[in-house]
Amino acid sequence: MGAGFTGAVIGRELAEAGIASLIVDERAHVAGNCHTERDAESGVMVHRYGPHIFHTDSERVWNYVRRFGTFEPYVNRVKTTVGGKVYSMPVNLHTINQFFGTAMSPDEARAFVASKSRTDIEDPQTFEEQAMKFVGEELYEAFFAGYTRKQWGLEPSMLPASILKRLPLRFNYDDNYFNHRFQGMPRNGYTPIVAAILDHPLIELRTGCRHEDLTEDFDHLFYSGPIDRYFNYDLGRLSYRTLDFEMIRAEGDYQGTAVMNYPDSDIPFTRIAEHKHFAPWEAGQLEKTVAFREYSRACGPDDIPYYPINLVGGMDMLQSYQDRAALERNVTFAGRLGTYQYLDMDVTIDRALDVAAAYLQQRAAA
Ligand SMILES: Cc1cc2nc3c(=O)[nH]c(=O)nc-3n(C[C@H](O)[C@H](O)[C@H](O)COP(=O)(O)OP(=O)(O)OC[C@H]3O[C@@H](n4cnc5c(N)ncnc54)[C@H](O)[C@@H]3O)c2cc1C
Repeated sequence: MGAGFTGAVIGRELAEAGIASLIVDERAHVAGNCHTERDAESGVMVHRYGPHIFHTDSERVWNYVRRFGTFEPYVNRVKTTVGGKVYSMPVNLHTINQFFGTAMSPDEARAFVASKSRTDIEDPQTFEEQAMKFVGEELYEAFFAGYTRKQWGLEPSMLPASILKRLPLRFNYDDNYFNHRFQGMPRNGYTPIVAAILDHPLIELRTGCRHEDLTEDFDHLFYSGPIDRYFNYDLGRLSYRTLDFEMIRAEGDYQGTAVMNYPDSDIPFTRIAEHKHFAPWEAGQLEKTVAFREYSRACGPDDIPYYPINLVGGMDMLQSYQDRAALERNVTFAGRLGTYQYLDMDVTIDRALDVAAAYLQQRAAA
């Protein structure tokens, strides 16, 4: 169930072991939230559900995806506009020197930021505590607080520290957003890669098909949809954030970079992504451009669930659903919606490979 990376990879692994599967997705296309398609008017490869950059430390995953498509070199460099000035992200020596109007060396900046940080916070539990401990109040307020409020619709004091742990603070001029060894962009987008994974004689694909409408019986179900939806929401709905994208069309180059964040609280959107810059090998040949303002809000029943909301101490409903899921016979819950976790594509693929391997092992032993 689901033709995103999770369903596709599991189906492929099973097919290569000689097991046939039917893969259904209610959308008209494969690749789930990683779906890409060319915008007819501008020719830009657009990431329909928000920008996706492939990055991983796993050689297994990097080799796996490159079996199914060509990746071009790409380094994600994010900028941020704060108080009418543009800074480099993630917060690095350039950001610190720009923000404080200084020309500090790495050691000087380290000592300077340490002098601003809240050393009395020993074991940070919340996003706010984590930020105060590591970057101090000024950098926190400028670069993190407003963005986080807009992204999650919550005070940073209600969000777990783990969200900020993903954002590095650097005392050099390295502005590569990710720390992983491998990074790239698929030359023809993600959808042909997922389609190639699904292209196997033992895989039958049905798009535009809801899982709820299936009537056939199966030996096993791998379910990569929302776990609460599987149980008809009968314990209530898990909380998600959804995104609205407002399209901007322009000639030439709109903002000169792929991603510009807007953390200021008086600006309603979180960032603008200009998609031609995700494909630098072809951007110069495209005369028109397309960019998207991204707005985050609470997910309603008819919206697309994007980000699971992990509240400090608020996960009882999830636990109850997971307890019930564990009792389901011949069903495996997988993927970002099935496990209610934010998973990058590489982690999604890695886990899907593990899920398939565990199933094949169990089947061989039975
Ligand atoms: C805004 C945003 C940006 C992201 N950027 C990055 C990035 O830069 N790099 C990165 O590595 N990762 C990124 N990700 C994460 C990436 O999107 C996920 O890793 C990936 O989509 C997970 O794949 P999946 O197959 O588990 O889920 P999905 O892609 O969501 O696939 C699940 C599929 O199940 C289908 N489905 C659900 N319920 C039913 C049903 N009842 N019947 C039929 N079909 C159903 C859905 O239509 C969907 O196609 C981003 C995520 C978001 C939200």
